[in-house]
Amino acid sequence: MESEKPLSLFCTVVAMDTTDYCYLVCSRCEKTLPNEYSSCKYCDPKFFNPGSSNSKRLYRILVSIASSEEVFVVVLFDRVARVLIGCSADEFFNFTMVNPSAAVTAGKLLEGKMFQMKLSKPKVNGNAQHLRAISVTPLCSDFSPAMKTLKELYRDGVSPLHQSQPSSSTHGNP
Ligand SMILES: [Zn+2]
Repeated sequence: MESEKPLSLFCTVVAMDTTDYCYLVCSRCEKTLPNEYSSCKYCDPKFFNPGSSNSKRLYRILVSIASSEEVFVVVLFDRVARVLIGCSADEFFNFTMVNPSAAVTAGKLLEGKMFQMKLSKPKVNGNAQHLRAISVTPLCSDFSPAMKTLKELYRDGVSPLHQSQPSSSTHGNP
């Protein structure tokens, strides 16, 4: 009987691996593609509009989390990762193309944030090696996804990592 209950726990994000956070899939059937120039083996090319992309990106983010007992790595796939990032993997990818430091900044924004996560164990014979987060609920009521903050931080086209002291905080409040 397959009745392994998902593990539910409260945890804090310790670190997020933003070097390799997404993978390419066919935009129609969502099977993995080796690169963006390859076409899907399973879909007829005539289903794709000429000139439009036949691939898209989905999240697969490794996140180190700390529970009350230990620190370990979980993997967040697309549906769950969107809760943290706040947009599609394609949109996030394009944003980091324009703002190369944004991926690292996104990781920093989420560090220390608390969540309730439901985790499922990797299948015994599969090649999955990490627990998989199947749901993520932010515990702080004013949580905002990374992308929302990133858009504010990078609004002026200036990387926040290169900005000096914010100048508006001491003056001008009515
Ligand atoms: Zn396909």
